[in-house]
Amino acid sequence: MNPFFATVLRNAPGHKPDQAPLVDPFGRAISYVRVSVTDRCDFRCVYCMSEDMNFLPKADLLTLEELDRLCSAFVARGTKKLRITGGEPLVRRNIMSLFRSLARHLDSGALSELTVTTNGSQLARHAKDLAACGVRRINVSLDTLNADTFRAVTRWGDLNQVLAGIDAAQAAGLAVKINMVALKGTNDTEILPMLRWAHSRGMDLTLIEVMPLGDVHAERVNQYLPLTEVEAALGQELTLRPLAYSTGGPARYMEVTETGGRLGLITPLTHNFCESCNRVRVTCTGTLYMCLGQEDAADLRAPLRASSTDELLQQAIIEAIARKPKGHDFIIDREHQTPAVSRHMSVTGG
Ligand code: SAM
Ligand code: SF4
Repeated sequence: MNPFFATVLRNAPGHKPDQAPLVDPFGRAISYVRVSVTDRCDFRCVYCMSEDMNFLPKADLLTLEELDRLCSAFVARGTKKLRITGGEPLVRRNIMSLFRSLARHLDSGALSELTVTTNGSQLARHAKDLAACGVRRINVSLDTLNADTFRAVTRWGDLNQVLAGIDAAQAAGLAVKINMVALKGTNDTEILPMLRWAHSRGMDLTLIEVMPLGDVHAERVNQYLPLTEVEAALGQELTLRPLAYSTGGPARYMEVTETGGRLGLITPLTHNFCESCNRVRVTCTGTLYMCLGQEDAADLRAPLRASSTDELLQQAIIEAIARKPKGHDFIIDREHQTPAVSRHMSVTGG
């Protein structure tokens, strides 16, 4: 059936939710959910947060049990990949209990992948437990290997703690991908050394264009480094061979002949990837954002709390997916200085 009509039919009044997979009005199957478990963080990265962030009262957050129920409702609807993110997910108290309970969906085969995006600060103490919960691959965000630049970018972070976290993750058998936001005038000269370093340790490196999300009290145009420029510069030094490889995310991958490693490029500005979008994002208060770059959202906390069964929750999810927009239209230039959306990346969960 045409996916649009399927969505309309499922939303018809009186229609009882079934367990059909989620398909949006543009025919995109939604099989990937990113869940932010906290808006708090032990860093204050200059492109992500302002220094004086106001965080949500803890009472507004979904409990870990509610987060489990919410994730499980998506799994029942065909979600194959769950990414736990934040804020910094590993600073949420008792977060490993959520991983432990979600692992049952890996065991049953309903879920193909349970993963996490982290700044690495707490990895040294959690890496083994993550591996024991069935997590196989993790993303660690690291923008520089220079301790001073690291402190300047994260404001509060300690590079050695993150490096120890990466060591622990690899020792626990986790595949680590490094996410590096390309920042003009800050880490542009480090991209090549970071690539060599990551590949020498068997880690992929993914570069990300800075996105205009939330007011960070800095001019985005001064941070933004188009990856078209980076790719051209790297191409002068290295042989970059495009790969069909995909992790189900927006990154375009290439193999670097000289290192044998993979380089990913996430280019929401210079080349948006919305046509293949398979994901939605849920905040720690249970707000579902159907697109990272749009304001429209659905409250899942109210239906979750209104009933101990999942019918209302499922209905709310279906209705929201039927409103998933075609895409975002991020622009960063001198004429576009205001954020595309008011919420910070740490709220939506990167
Ligand atoms: N705290 C964790 C971390 O840093 O990995 C998880 C949450 S963080 C919001 C997820 C990812 O979003 C990180 O890789 C971070 O570098 C990226 N990020 C944050 N703000 C961004 C922005 N404005 N543009 C592009 N990437 C951003
Ligand atoms: Fe925290 Fe991650 Fe945002 Fe940095 S990017 S401030 S580590 S949430």
